[in-house]
Amino acid sequence: MPEYLYKCASCGKPFSVFLSLADREKKERRKEIQCPKCKGTNVEHLVEPFYAKTGRKS
Ligand SMILES: [Zn+2]
Repeated sequence: MPEYLYKCASCGKPFSVFLSLADREKKERRKEIQCPKCKGTNVEHLVEPFYAKTGRKS
């Protein structure tokens, strides 16, 4: 199952969640992804560092 990285927009804590792709879309839409620290649901999806490293060649 893929791991997704999020950052809480309320307290700034980064955290990761293991979700299937379908679950992730469903939970994001329903605001069910919750910060483990403050229980806030105002979270930002972070781009995985792996992708951030890929330079653009075009
Ligand atoms: Zn938080």
